[in-house]
Amino acid sequence: MSKIDLEKLNIEEIHQALSKKIFSSEELTKKYLARIKQDDTNAFISLNENALDEAKAADQKIKSGQAGVLVGVPLAVKDVILVAGQKATAASKILENYTASYTATAVARLKAAGMVILGKTNCDEFAMGSSNENSYFGPVLNPHDKSRVPGGSSGGSAVAVAANLAPVSLGTDTGGSIRQPAAFCGVVGLKPSYGRVSRYGAIAMASSLDQIGPLAKTVKDTAYLLHQMAGFDKYDATSSTEPVADYLKDIDKDVKKIRLGIPEEYFLSGIDPAVRQAVEGKINFLEKAGFKIKAVKLPYTEYGLAAYYLLMPAEVSSNLARYDGILYGMSPDKNLSLDDWYKSVRSQGFGSETKRRIILGTYILSAGYFDAYYKKAQKLRSLIKNDFANVFKQVDALLTPVTPTTAFKIGEKSKDPLSMYLSDIFTVGANIAGICGLSLPIGQDKNNLPIGLQILAKPFAEDILFKLGYYIENNY
Ligand code: GLN
Repeated sequence: MSKIDLEKLNIEEIHQALSKKIFSSEELTKKYLARIKQDDTNAFISLNENALDEAKAADQKIKSGQAGVLVGVPLAVKDVILVAGQKATAASKILENYTASYTATAVARLKAAGMVILGKTNCDEFAMGSSNENSYFGPVLNPHDKSRVPGGSSGGSAVAVAANLAPVSLGTDTGGSIRQPAAFCGVVGLKPSYGRVSRYGAIAMASSLDQIGPLAKTVKDTAYLLHQMAGFDKYDATSSTEPVADYLKDIDKDVKKIRLGIPEEYFLSGIDPAVRQAVEGKINFLEKAGFKIKAVKLPYTEYGLAAYYLLMPAEVSSNLARYDGILYGMSPDKNLSLDDWYKSVRSQGFGSETKRRIILGTYILSAGYFDAYYKKAQKLRSLIKNDFANVFKQVDALLTPVTPTTAFKIGEKSKDPLSMYLSDIFTVGANIAGICGLSLPIGQDKNNLPIGLQILAKPFAEDILFKLGYYIENNY
């Protein structure tokens, strides 16, 4: 087997090596699987037993000489996304033994392009969390410092890329779950605009906020994956018919025409000085490079977290009502009345954060409280959306930190839900407004922990994120 350097590989390099027969997809897949087996970060929940067969099929396609760029490239998939015949646990005890009967559209499109599924990655239960500590299968460790969290909820997907267990992965982002772990682990993560990628086959957390998106080592890799996954899907009525741009074609063109905005509300006191310094350093760099930069205002930012932590649990309580132990999920062994059956399944099957959100959401939606909480939060949602719409009349992209701090210690926030929720302060806005956002590694703090820059753009302007991200990644 030729030497394969997993540390360095990105999609284009894999494609070239496969085309030139430097190594085969089977050899590459074997190498990743071996690395995953040795790994001690707990990034994966299960491996794909058919991975090597899929790789061999890809090698056949390559032999025929007409393979596209994704053929034979391995992929890790967050365990809330369905792949037919493979377990999909959502990192929950209640779905511990659930095997998916169909494949999510996003994954089906990547498989159709020849990608090889390595396995399913660990995450917070039903994607609820910011630290990956809420998994029934145990926490995931940050490869940069194993006493720290990788972020969440797509912690396993971020670690898979950061620890070279997969070249690229898929996550989901409802309030920051792709961007925040990408920032904590030093990889690139994209939350597509709402409706850009089909949600069919993604286990629903909060349906009006959820999106599937890619994590990778480079901006181009996220663009390759999005290009393949994006576009209307008849199985998801909220997927958009907006045409999908050819993101790669002009990724290095006209970048300096992009007008940049800096929202003052994202630079509060209280953010870690190292994070502030890194982000401001990048802004200064871009200004010197000739970009037009202006200060802008998003006055409703301070209500973002409150709106998110009302809307999201309301949708969670409704989406998770289906886990009753009858159609699927665990079943109690005794002959119980219907009420006792539900109680038994749901109290044993869900973890404590999931229960907290189901209870909160049920309360928020209940008669008497609906107007006070849910309706008000919906009004806030409109105001926050308007904030972004106004700002995107003046500028094309916003630059902000992804998170107020770098990766925190395991256990540091898990006893204090409020402080955990605060770590989503800069990411929830994009989900509430349905816009797109990219998290890009731009440096380290004094403990060598990665720092991320967030770039936000209006709905379906992912091309702007890629151009700017690609420029920043390649000019420093
Ligand atoms: N950290 C956020 C939460 O706990 C976001 C989760 C997500 O995006 N899936 O809800």
